[in-house]
Amino acid sequence: MNQTKKILIIDDEPDILVMLKKMMERAGFDVRLAVNGDEGLLSFYEETPDLVITDIIMPEKEGLEIIREMKKQHPALKIIAISGGGRISAESYLETAGHFGANRIFQKPFTQSEIVSAVKSLLETD
Ligand SMILES: [Mg+2]
Repeated sequence: MNQTKKILIIDDEPDILVMLKKMMERAGFDVRLAVNGDEGLLSFYEETPDLVITDIIMPEKEGLEIIREMKKQHPALKIIAISGGGRISAESYLETAGHFGANRIFQKPFTQSEIVSAVKSLLETD
């Protein structure tokens, strides 16, 4: 059985969503998008994805909260946290994301090959 893996991508920046969607679809994944934390959680509860890529700094609901809630519901879920550079606190947010249960953390900008290979290796360890 080789079912297409589902990836949920949550980011408040449309450009990032579009870019990540293209990258993941090219890599053969089934992609769903959410523009904020609330929408991301709704999507998560509707259908559990195999992996989540979430931004950390978003209005409405922060990425850290989402990571904590998703891991509580589904401890085996793989999560990649991403955050923008340029903000003073981006690095420490990412560090906290790791403590909250994110499996990998990336600071923007990241390359296609690094994020795609992170996704693939996380999904392989199932
Ligand atoms: Mg953001």
